[in-house]
Amino acid sequence: MPRIFSGIQPSGELHIGNLLGAVQNWVELQSRYECFFCVVDLHALTGAGYEAAQLAKRTRDMALSLLAAGIDPSRCTLFVQSHVPDHSVLMWLLNAVTPLGELERMTQFKDKSQHLESIPAGLLNYPILMASDILLYRADLVPVGEDQVQHLELTREIARRWNAAFSTGPTPILPEPQPMLTVAKRIMGLDGDAKMSKSKGNTIAITETPEEIWQKLRPAKTDPARKTRKDPGNPEVCNIFDLHRYFSPPETQAEVAVKCRGALWGCLDCKRVLADNMTAALAPIRERALDLAAHPEQVDTVLGDGAMTARRHAGETMRLVQDAMGLLPVPREVRREA
Ligand code: SF4
Repeated sequence: MPRIFSGIQPSGELHIGNLLGAVQNWVELQSRYECFFCVVDLHALTGAGYEAAQLAKRTRDMALSLLAAGIDPSRCTLFVQSHVPDHSVLMWLLNAVTPLGELERMTQFKDKSQHLESIPAGLLNYPILMASDILLYRADLVPVGEDQVQHLELTREIARRWNAAFSTGPTPILPEPQPMLTVAKRIMGLDGDAKMSKSKGNTIAITETPEEIWQKLRPAKTDPARKTRKDPGNPEVCNIFDLHRYFSPPETQAEVAVKCRGALWGCLDCKRVLADNMTAALAPIRERALDLAAHPEQVDTVLGDGAMTARRHAGETMRLVQDAMGLLPVPREVRREA
């Protein structure tokens, strides 16, 4: 079965943008591939929203949300990046073959560094850690959106360079992963101005109560042409209609379009229907999340088991890599202790 690696930032509880944009895809993939899903807390250290006091909570909350959303630890390996120290070790080893110019060319590095007075080296080296994440598990496939294609291409380049320098057998020690292009579902925030994101405060969390969902949808932006109930609108330019596409059945979507174009109802009527359908769709996820929140030891057990499995696979790769690079093997007694 082909192997997949994918990571998600520890941004805390999932919101519907994460759920629709990435996690639903993971839930589907876990039945067809051998999946390693990782909460990438080490990557978060270079992010703008990093706060040491919040990181552990956000990491656990993300893991809890993933389990609530349908990630099944009996079908995949779910773990936290920093629980497998080999991610950082391999990253250092890959530094040896990564050209500086390639790192400086990364679009995300240019975007994120341009407003900084002092640029942390971690921001530049971020793609090497990403390469390490993927190559450590010798993943065949990596689900990527358009914005991550450049990073994956660099991972492939790093693997090629490393294999050319150190892999002498008939099959490369670090196989080049292939991109699994996922259709980018860009879920807009409730403000209708930007992508749904916690930092923008325009999200609906997967555990919101029915009343909270309604209170958030009520003021959400709609087609500005609908100034009054009598003004016809265009559902194609309305974010609420977009959300109906994910949460309402096809017949409701058709009804929404007709009633919007014909000014046959008000936007609040339309949002009420969406709120009810969204509440119903999220109810089982919310229930599982509340249950897991009441039993956090279950989340810790899953992450502990996941880290053990991930360490085993990572250890196999590292033995091959360290041997090929000429490092003195770790004495057996030390390995047993570890
Ligand atoms: S009726 Fe619905 S789809 Fe049309 S503008 Fe209002 S909220 Fe949007």
